[in-house]
Amino acid sequence: MNTPGLLIVISGPSGAGKGTLCNLIKKEFPNIYYSISATTRSSRQGERHGVDYLFMSREEFLELREANGFLEWAEVYGNFYGTPRSKVEENIAEGKDVILEIDIQGALHVKKQYPEGVFIFIVPPSIRELKRRIESRGQDSPEDISKRLKSAHTELAYVSEYDYVIVNDKIETAIAKLKSIITAEKCRPQRRKINFE
Ligand code: 5GP
Repeated sequence: MNTPGLLIVISGPSGAGKGTLCNLIKKEFPNIYYSISATTRSSRQGERHGVDYLFMSREEFLELREANGFLEWAEVYGNFYGTPRSKVEENIAEGKDVILEIDIQGALHVKKQYPEGVFIFIVPPSIRELKRRIESRGQDSPEDISKRLKSAHTELAYVSEYDYVIVNDKIETAIAKLKSIITAEKCRPQRRKINFE
C-alpha cells in the first residue's frame, strides 16, 4: 500500500495572492495534484472551464452536492464553491500530494475530515495593499470589491486555526516559505514508511 499523499489546504483573503502562489507551486512540484473547484460564479476574462474552475449552474452544483460529490462546499460572496471529492481521495490514496485552494469555511470542514492535512493561511502585508491588489485586477465590480474587503477583516481572525501563516509581501519570499513548509511536512516520520532493506 502507498504512503498516503499530503493534503495541503491554502486559504486567505481574496487578493492575498493565493492563486499566484499556487501557480508557481504547480511549476515547482509538478507531481502535486491541484484540485479544480466547482463554482456557480461566472467566469472572469481569461478563465477556462476545467482549468481554473468547473463552471456549473446552481442546479448542477446542487445535484452534485446532493449526491455527496463534494468533499466540502461553501457559499462565498453569494456563489457556491465546492471541492469535487473523487479526484482528491483517489490522488491521496495513490500517494500523490493534493493542494486545495479554498475559503476558510471549507478549510474548517476539511480539517474535521482530514486533521492530518497541512493548513496554510496566506495574508497580504496590509489591508491597504489588499485593496490595491483587488482593484488593480480590474475584474470585480465595485460591490464585489467592497464585499471582499469586508470579508477580509473577518477572515484574518481565523489565522490561528491554521498550521502556518505566510505574509505575502514579496512573491519570491512567500514561495520560498511555501516550498519549505511542503518539504518539511513531507519529512515528518509520521507521514513516511521508512524501509531500510
Ligand atoms: P474567486 O471567486 O476569487 O476565484 O474565489 C473566491 C473564494 O472562494 C476564494 O477565497 C477561494 O479560495 C474560494 N474557493 C475557491 N474554490 C473553493 C472551493 O472549492 N471550496 C471553498 N470552500 N472555497 C473555494
